[in-house]
Amino acid sequence: EAIIQVRDVTKTFVGKDNKVEALKGINLDIHKGEIYGIIGMSGAGKSTLVRCLNFLERPTTGTVFIEGKDLSQLKEGELRKTRTEIAMIFQHFNLLMQRNVIDNICFPMEIKGTSRKDAVKRAKELLEIVGLSEKAKAYPAQLSGGQKQRVAIARALANNPKILLCDEATSALDPTTTKAILALLKEINEKYGITIVIITHEMAVVQEICTHVAIVDSGNLAETGTVEEVFSRP
Ligand code: ADP
Ligand code: ADP
Repeated sequence: EAIIQVRDVTKTFVGKDNKVEALKGINLDIHKGEIYGIIGMSGAGKSTLVRCLNFLERPTTGTVFIEGKDLSQLKEGELRKTRTEIAMIFQHFNLLMQRNVIDNICFPMEIKGTSRKDAVKRAKELLEIVGLSEKAKAYPAQLSGGQKQRVAIARALANNPKILLCDEATSALDPTTTKAILALLKEINEKYGITIVIITHEMAVVQEICTHVAIVDSGNLAETGTVEEVFSRP
């Protein structure tokens, strides 16, 4: 069974005098261990789709199942637990500027109630994994874009998620840094078996590391399959 199942999901944003059908009936299966690319032009519905996967956004109709659980049916406590299993990284990193690197990484563990001692220990391990141990005491403003994204990745991994959602995570980075961050994501996928979903508007990102890809076009999935299948279709 797929770790993420999307069934007939629609999302309509209703404004004062307009309606936007951002998703028009999406069906998608993502299996454990896959690196799944969701590609499409700006405005196609990629962010909305990915935000439905962790219930930052509720589908207007249809269902998202995570590990077989219908998100809309979960009670508050269970929903919170499921959400900690789904981490997210962003284009603009979303680090806490007043906190140093270690304390940024500790933040989700603090919320979860992990002791300070255990959180710091885990944060140091995570910094080693992302290759940034020497910046433990630095503040985000002192870091490059690539370094900031490494901190964001470490923070995302803090509570051992099963799924990592990446929303245009390399779009603010130069090509060399992009390659390095993608290599890190691949390493994390292989070492820890974390399922990764990558939203991007860049074909190169999909071709670099994705195993599977869905092409989103105007709220519909135009194509889905392995990267080889989709890109070799006439
Ligand atoms: P993408 O990530 O592919 O650029 P989005 O999912 O951000 O696309 O947007 C899809 C469509 O939904 C766009 O037309 C966008 O303007 C609209 N949209 C997204 N979020 C909202 C919102 N909160 N309110 C109204 N319209 C929205
Ligand atoms: P953009 O797509 O405009 O570059 P981001 O990728 O930074 O924006 O964020 C995408 C969406 O996720 C935004 O609508 C924002 O409100 C939301 N968001 C940003 N940071 C977080 C966070 N730490 N937790 C949950 N939602 C967030």
